Order: sequence, then structure tokens, then C-alpha cells
Amino acid sequence: MSKTIAIIGGGLSGALVVLNILKQSNRATQILWFDAKNAFCKGLAYSTNEEVHLLNVRASNMSVFADQPMHFANWLTQQKLPFSSQDFVPRTVYGQYVSSTFNELKESNTLVKIICLAEEVTAINKKGNDYRVSSNEDYQVEQVVLAFGNYLPAHPRSIHSDFQQSNRYFQNAFSSQLLKHAITQESILIIGSGLTMIDVVLSLNKHQYKGKITAISPHGYLPNAHIENSLPAISSYINEQQTYTLLQLFSLVNQQLKYARANQYSIHSVIDTLRPHLQRLWLGFSLEDKQQFLRHLRHKWGVARHRTASQSMQVINELLNAKQLELIRGRVYDIKSSVTGFEVQYSAKGQDNYLNAAILINCTGPESNFEKLAFPLIKQLLRDNIIRADALKYGIYASENGQIDKYLYTIGPPLKGILWETIAVPEIRLQAQQLGLMLVR
Ligand SMILES: Cc1cc2nc3c(=O)[nH]c(=O)nc-3n(C[C@H](O)[C@H](O)[C@H](O)COP(=O)(O)OP(=O)(O)OC[C@H]3O[C@@H](n4cnc5c(N)ncnc54)[C@H](O)[C@@H]3O)c2cc1C
Repeated sequence: MSKTIAIIGGGLSGALVVLNILKQSNRATQILWFDAKNAFCKGLAYSTNEEVHLLNVRASNMSVFADQPMHFANWLTQQKLPFSSQDFVPRTVYGQYVSSTFNELKESNTLVKIICLAEEVTAINKKGNDYRVSSNEDYQVEQVVLAFGNYLPAHPRSIHSDFQQSNRYFQNAFSSQLLKHAITQESILIIGSGLTMIDVVLSLNKHQYKGKITAISPHGYLPNAHIENSLPAISSYINEQQTYTLLQLFSLVNQQLKYARANQYSIHSVIDTLRPHLQRLWLGFSLEDKQQFLRHLRHKWGVARHRTASQSMQVINELLNAKQLELIRGRVYDIKSSVTGFEVQYSAKGQDNYLNAAILINCTGPESNFEKLAFPLIKQLLRDNIIRADALKYGIYASENGQIDKYLYTIGPPLKGILWETIAVPEIRLQAQQLGLMLVR
């Protein structure tokens, strides 16, 4: 008997689940694959057409299949594209790679039928052992995967809120309207100074933007760049049998950093060595440790962990040196909007300051608190207790393998509160492989 699986979300997470079902299923299966934005295989990260938006991971670690690590690098060679496995490839090329892998495999398993539906799912209800998934129509399915991905950032805190309605304010830094509106303006303020800010600045620069760009964030940190020809890596210092408190781990990392500096080892390797252990370490922390980490260390961690390609950072440094780009360490507390732009008030070094900008771009990072999301589906799922927020309110409560209920699962970014390290390809491809197996069993 055939079964039907609904996958809600067409981005990378949804795509990798589909690919793994295709590879692993040996019974008749129908997949209803939904994406509200018709962004199948690409989602938010890989829909960009900008060549300057690069992957922040080398090609050698971006295969869609955990058990075929060179799959992406080999695809690049087959396509005769001018990139090696050590390169940071444009994200638009990566989107083509995921689409091409899907197109190649979609007919490979005659037992699996995939129906792509470019529709927003607005409700999911339990019906006995099954689910009813509602979009333009109602569909009865046996299993559901919530692959919602990343949501837009929350609006910046401000006494006044009318700026939110201005067509000069961009909550979505990847909006197709942004360049059109921004390129002729004299001043742009970006709230946030992480990887999304870097993407925006690179696009503006590529399109010959000549005005002033200011980026503001409470800590004023810029992401680190990957180092070319780096020093040797330190060896692993995590005992796989041991759980650590946050304090123990913090001291250990600091010791290793000191050791690496004193002995000419790569400082980045101190962080990279942690990567394969992160989910287990996070699961071993108490709730209080997790809260302490989020309160005091999250930003520092983000800078150390989420690195940008060195060629991207070179452009950022040139713009900083030319003073076209300015980075302010400050906290925005009010945004007043007028027909010509915004007056933004912020505190910095204990003092109140203000600046004017014609365009305002929100690069503060995705909203992860599901209780604050206004989407009909999320509201309904919470209201009907089909999902609930995790204890940290960083995503959806689920078991560590993404199971929410017997036949309801999630993957990728919604598992941030449970696993912390769950938003990048190396983690998502492993989750998709395991989830694929659970679904076809
Ligand atoms: C800008 C950016 C750059 C990144 N760069 C890298 C990188 O270089 N290397 C790396 O390893 N990782 C990178 N990542 C991280 C990682 O690849 C992404 O987090 C990953 O693509 C997440 O995919 P996703 O499918 O979970 O989410 P998304 O790409 O956000 O896709 C989710 C999809 O779900 C759909 N959806 C949501 N709700 C509904 C609904 N109710 N009905 C129908 N459809 C719905 C949305 O329309 C969306 O298309 C990057 C992330 C971003 C945002």
C-alpha cells in the first residue's frame, strides 16, 4: 500500500529529506512537497543570483550527501566550473547543484512519486493516526516533516514603530527590491554586523554604490575570515565519553586558545575541533548553562564559528579603510521615519547619539521564537498543541532526532534550541539521512 508524506518547506532541508527518501525507499511513497515561495531546492540561502554571495564553507564540505563527501566538488568538475574543492563557491551555483541533483534523482526510484506544490500550508490537523494538511486544498497524509527554515528577523526595538511600514525599510535583506531602492541613496544604515550585513555590503559594492554605509550592532563584532595557508590544526581536546558544564568547556577552550597562540597552531582549529561534538555537548548542558551561553557568549561564538570567505572580508576591509563603510558599536532604541528616511537614536559608550539614513536594512538574524511568529500555520500549530516552543524559545520542542510526535518531524533551523548546531549543510545532511530512514521504514 502506498503512503503519503508531506514535507512543508522547499529549501535545503526539505530537498535533502526528499533526496534521502528517493535513495532509501523500497515501498510505494507519494511525497507532497510544499513551498510557499516556489523556492524548491534553494530556499532563502541559495535563491540569490549575486555571484558575490559566497558559501562560507569550502566546497569539499558542502556535499548534499553525508556518505559521498566529494559529491559537490565532483559536480563542479563535471560541470566544468572554475572552482576547486577548496574554494568558497557562489551560493547561486550551490542552488544549481541542489536543483540539478534533485532533477537527476527524481526519476531514479520508480516507487517514489513527488508532487511539488508552490502553496503556503496554513493548517495541519491530526485526523486519527493521519494528518490533514491544508493549503489551497486539504490533503490527507501519514507523515509530516516541518522544514520551515529561517524566518525574517524581528523588527528592531524602537519607541516609534511606523518605520516598519516605510518602503525604505527592509526587514528582508535579500529582498529583490532592495538594490533598486538603495543604489541611488546617499546613506544606508544596516542594523546587525554579521554575515548577512556582509552579503548586503558586497551586493551594494558590486553594483557601484557610492554612498555611505553604516552598520551598527551592540558588540560591534565583524565575522572572522577563513585564513588561507593557515597554521597547523591542534589535535582534538574533547573527551568523547565526558559531558562538560559550560564553565568547564569555556576554561578548556580558553586553555587551548592560549596553547595554540603560544605554539603557532591555528586559533580557528580550536573552534573547528569542537564542531563534531557540539550537538552532544549542547545536549549535556543544563538549561541554566544554555541560558548563560545565549546571554553572554552567543555573539562571541557567532564571530568565531561563522566565518566568511577571505575574499569577501578583503572587500569589507577596503570599504572600512576608505571610510565608505563604518562600523558602530551601539544599541538602537528609537527609529523615527520621514518621507526622506530615518532618524535613528542609539546609545554607545553610555551616551545617546543619533544618525540619519535614507535606507534602513535589518540584518539582525532570523526570529527563532515561534511564539512571536505571525504566520497562520505557526499560530494554529501552537494553539492546537501540535508543536510547542522549546524551553529556550529558540525553535520547536522535539527529540534530538527531530521527532515531535509519532509521525511528525522537524529538521534544521527549528531544532536550534534542542541541538544548537543545526543550521548548516554538514549537520542538515546528516539529519536528512537519518530522517529519510525513519520515514521510509
Ligand atoms: C544567507 C544564508 C547563507 C548561508 N550560507 C551557508 C553556507 O555557506 N554553508 C552552510 O553550510 N550553510 C549556510 N547557510 C545555512 C543553511 O544552508 C541554511 O540554513 C539552510 O539552507 C536552511 O535550509 P531550510 O530548508 O531549512 O530553510 P529555508 O532555506 O529558509 O527554506 C524554508 C522554506 O520553507 C518554506 N515555508 C515555510 N513555511 C511554509 C509554509 N507554511 N508553507 C509552505 N512553505 C513554507 C519557505 O518558503 C522556504 O522556502 C546559510 C543560510 C543563510 C540564510
